[in-house]
Amino acid sequence: MKTIAFIGLGIMGSGMAGNLAKKGFALTLWDRSPKKSLELPGAKRAGSIAEAVKAAEVVMYSLADDRAVEEVVFGADGVLAASRRGQIVLDMSTVHPETSKRQAKAFADRGVEFLDTPVFGSKNESAHAELWVLAGGNRQTFEKVRPILEAIGQTVNYMGPAGSGTSMKLVGNLVVALQLQAVGEAMVLASKAGLASRDVLEVFKLTDFRSPIISGVGAALIERKFDTNFALKHLYKDANLICRFAEELNSPAPALAAVRETIKTAMNQGWAEENASAMIKALELEGNVTIGEK
Ligand code: NAP
Repeated sequence: MKTIAFIGLGIMGSGMAGNLAKKGFALTLWDRSPKKSLELPGAKRAGSIAEAVKAAEVVMYSLADDRAVEEVVFGADGVLAASRRGQIVLDMSTVHPETSKRQAKAFADRGVEFLDTPVFGSKNESAHAELWVLAGGNRQTFEKVRPILEAIGQTVNYMGPAGSGTSMKLVGNLVVALQLQAVGEAMVLASKAGLASRDVLEVFKLTDFRSPIISGVGAALIERKFDTNFALKHLYKDANLICRFAEELNSPAPALAAVRETIKTAMNQGWAEENASAMIKALELEGNVTIGEK
């Protein structure tokens, strides 16, 4: 399967598409707001979703949220309407597992195979084909597209039937959100206690609770860098999705509810387009300190 339609060329989609083009897949691209800077070797631009879908054996999209999937997939001129028997569709977006199941059913009704294939990793991992890719859906379909997923990721994990990929993604992002809150609260406390932020981070890097998120976000906080790898608005979307998902399953998520309040405060400060780590500025505001000043 060598011909791919790729839809949604944002931070994550542009990296994935870039690596697929580099590895010899024939791409047709469609994006709501075509990004001029994205020139991929051998890739064609389609004038519509239908034109992109028509050209491909496999259709992939990396879209902002459930609403974007609703419009791009289920819209009158969307992917579903343009898809044909024998094609495989891969949704790389982070959406509610019910949205994945609904897509799987709608595509199956047209003889189209569908997998929910969200990813862990961010801008850098996407650009360097180092994503941690998940998959939910039919196992045989997964085996057919494994080479495509391996072309963008360092690992590929099959999780089970439709919706299992996005379920795993929400489970993982619960950990991400809690770690962001943890490093934020800890570094605010350290600042108020008069500890030097760089010294605190050095210790964090050594300990048995070290993590790439704590080290990476901690260093960026000290440098006051909030360049967007993963937008705060998407973390807010994910926190809302996870709270809803937990609620639906009667699963406890008290810490996440608190983290969501921190994210909401940061959103209300106007930081939606900044990196997700900007949520920590809300904790700084409350504590009346700035991490890294000492
Ligand atoms: P992004 O840079 O904001 O890109 C989102 C893409 O979706 C853009 O191409 C955007 O087009 C398109 N889009 C949004 N609404 C649309 C609509 N109604 N119709 C058509 N296209 C629409 O986001 P991203 O960071 O690449 O993330 C993409 C997905 O991956 C999200 O679900 C996110 O949660 C998930 N994810 C992100 C990361 C990360 O670190 N960034 C990591 C793992 C997973 P426009 O440019 O026209 O808005």
